[in-house]
Amino acid sequence: MDDYDVVVIGGSYSGMSAAMALGRSRRNVLVIDGGDPCNKSTPHSHNFLTQDGVAPSEISKIAKNQILQYPTIRWDHGNVYDVMGEIGSFEVSIDGGKTVAGRRVILAAGLRDVLPEIPGFKACWGKTIIHCPYCHGYEFSDQKTGILTPANQAFEMLKLISNWTNNLKLFLLGDDSLEDEELDTILDKGVEIVNQPIQEVIHDRGVLNHLIMQDDSIEKMDVLYARLATEQRASFVRTIGCATIESGHLEVDMFGKTTVEGIYAVGDCAHPMRSVATAVYTGNIAGAMINKELIEEDF
Ligand SMILES: Cc1cc2nc3c(=O)[nH]c(=O)nc-3n(C[C@H](O)[C@H](O)[C@H](O)COP(=O)(O)OP(=O)(O)OC[C@H]3O[C@@H](n4cnc5c(N)ncnc54)[C@H](O)[C@@H]3O)c2cc1C
Repeated sequence: MDDYDVVVIGGSYSGMSAAMALGRSRRNVLVIDGGDPCNKSTPHSHNFLTQDGVAPSEISKIAKNQILQYPTIRWDHGNVYDVMGEIGSFEVSIDGGKTVAGRRVILAAGLRDVLPEIPGFKACWGKTIIHCPYCHGYEFSDQKTGILTPANQAFEMLKLISNWTNNLKLFLLGDDSLEDEELDTILDKGVEIVNQPIQEVIHDRGVLNHLIMQDDSIEKMDVLYARLATEQRASFVRTIGCATIESGHLEVDMFGKTTVEGIYAVGDCAHPMRSVATAVYTGNIAGAMINKELIEEDF
């Protein structure tokens, strides 16, 4: 079995950032990556210094070229399906039958967005149906904007998005559990609430044109913010015993340590402030902390 100081599960921004800190610390690192980052559908990534507006795949390509310059970093394409063992001797199993060993493991596998099964939704996801105003809001400033959200998050979401546009409509999918006070404020601000399911999203190659509602009415729209449910990509995290917080993110301390000794988690799987910058930052910190732990062990 190949033996590494650290096995990194997920080779996108967070995993590569951790690998860079570890490679520069002359650690033997294996990055295992399925090649399916969550932002692959978006043409331009924003709000990350030096790479604003660059394609997500281009940022990854540059990062991968840079980390693989370090001779102690190895890369395997594949999906991990299990992690067993304990601090100092984890066994990581990859689809296809290979198992590798690591003294530490970093979970950097991200989240899966659970897209609703509305025709046309997927084609617009990351282009004109978006999740985050900091990533894409500027490009849609003052445009005709919808917000698709569970009612209990509607008020906060509407308040946030009103920073980028006042041309707003709220889509609540038949859920009318808004607090009275919130409802009054929303109506006072002249925001219309549409409270029925969306039948279809009509678009041209991902550019949203209008929504067809359940009663066949039409809602013209330039952009739709969608608050979607998410799931851990690495489902095996439950069997290894890493605790999660209420939002479903892995519980970590400020250095990325999970509740299982020797396993760290970085990027989206552990941090609700979802961005390339957060992924890179948390990976960088965890890489340095693991190196420090290994120095303490070996010195
Ligand atoms: C549509 C969309 C647009 C976005 N736009 C922006 C933006 O403009 N600016 C910005 O800052 N942020 C943006 N984000 C957020 C940003 O993309 C994420 O915060 C960031 O990608 C998180 O990085 P990560 O490394 O944690 O996870 P990801 O980038 O999601 O990568 C996870 C990696 O792990 C791999 N993986 C998963 N499971 C396994 C497994 N079992 N074994 C091996 N590998 C596995 C996957 O294949 C993938 O390569 C966007 C997100 C979405 C969904």
